[in-house]
Amino acid sequence: MSNRKDRHGPGEVIAVDRNYVPMQECSRRHAIRAVAAGRAWVLDAASLERRAELAEVIELIVFPHAAACNESKFLMGRLERRVRKRDGHVCQYEGCSHKATTVDHVIPLCQGGQNTWQNLVACCLACNQKKGGRTPEQAGMKLKRAPKGPRAHLFERFEELLKRASSAA
Ligand SMILES: [Zn+2]
Repeated sequence: MSNRKDRHGPGEVIAVDRNYVPMQECSRRHAIRAVAAGRAWVLDAASLERRAELAEVIELIVFPHAAACNESKFLMGRLERRVRKRDGHVCQYEGCSHKATTVDHVIPLCQGGQNTWQNLVACCLACNQKKGGRTPEQAGMKLKRAPKGPRAHLFERFEELLKRASSAA
């Protein structure tokens, strides 16, 4: 038991909403508390069915009353500040190491781009002005890496878990 606890730290259990969209990671303790209080159910990762009992190993729980937590809700408020923080306050265009004082829409709003994590990057003023209302391709500029949402790794972990569980079943 203590062994298991040592191997996995907090963030071991994936919590999904009623549409099976990953919402957050939580500790095993938090998961057990939520299940005991009737707010969450333990899911079998292979079948995505509710497990009747508290399993020794809990990998996945569902909050059956939680509505899908959509990206726009997640984004509200200080989005630009959070994008700059995600990108380490450094301009995300290749070859540039200037401090990012602005946020750039990769696909410009005027070309149908949106205010999402995936379409926003930290950018210095010079690169932003150079790029203007163009896509990186149109401007001959390249991103250092693809911008990701704050929960991207959670979705990856969730997919891995389902894959592992279904191949084990
Ligand atoms: Zn720059």
